[in-house]
Amino acid sequence: MRYEGTVYRPPSEAESLLIQATIGCPHNDCTFCGMYRDTKFRIRSVADIKEDLLMARDFYGDKVRSIFFPDGNTILMKTDQLLEILYYAREMFPYLKRMTVYGSAKFMKLKKLNEFRLLREAGLTRIHSGMESGDDEVLRRIKKGFTAAEMIEEGLKVREAGLELSEYILLGIGGRERTQEHALESARVLNAFTPDFVRFRTYVPWKGTPLYDDYQQGRFHLLSPYEVLRETRLLIANLEDPFELLSDHMSNYAPINGNIPKDKPEMIETIDRLLAVPEDNFKQMDSGLL
Ligand code: SF4
Repeated sequence: MRYEGTVYRPPSEAESLLIQATIGCPHNDCTFCGMYRDTKFRIRSVADIKEDLLMARDFYGDKVRSIFFPDGNTILMKTDQLLEILYYAREMFPYLKRMTVYGSAKFMKLKKLNEFRLLREAGLTRIHSGMESGDDEVLRRIKKGFTAAEMIEEGLKVREAGLELSEYILLGIGGRERTQEHALESARVLNAFTPDFVRFRTYVPWKGTPLYDDYQQGRFHLLSPYEVLRETRLLIANLEDPFELLSDHMSNYAPINGNIPKDKPEMIETIDRLLAVPEDNFKQMDSGLL
């Protein structure tokens, strides 16, 4: 396998074989994100991707159970190219249980329901999607490239096609000014399309990004640990639909893992217990530690 640049993957893909299908991110404009800022986006050729899958089979044998195809927004690849890669991967690894990609609503929009169905039949199981917020004002400010209504539409489409959806919410990304709207609108949007998984991350300013500069110059007000916990509490209190909620990232202050709605009272209790701990005991993360 050949890798280019820093390869990012969700923590839940730690055991997966990583095969780069795209390099960089075709959007590359989110004000908080520094992942691919200096990388020129391109889609790798199907021949190169297949060659990497073959190399992986020679190296690991045919027992690989899951594959994640970085980099950013691989879902934007042409459907026939993705299908060719997915079918080839299944040929190489007959025991495969899971194949996943990153995809934001901006790029899911480019595919029709039937294309998602074909991808599912070919073995795509899950899309990891950075929604970050359900508040239109926050989405506009962070230049996410889609609106809350588009997120709902795309979420429903992907779910109807039978694909799993793992949505990422960025706690604190509305700053002090939009914390309430960020929590309430994120809950409303998630309730509207019911992703299978909701994963929390806490916003940590990343040097070299526009939002970092805003933070440094006092235009963006970072939430304190207590404020993040209160925002999390408000968001969870307003979640209704059944899905799994995970706090599987070191940036988070609260270990909130469980199922909505069953475990909601326990999650809120955990946050209330943490809010009774002196705030100085929480270490604020900086991007160098992530
Ligand atoms: S779409 Fe994802 S990878 Fe691309 S800039 Fe935004 S957060 Fe970063």
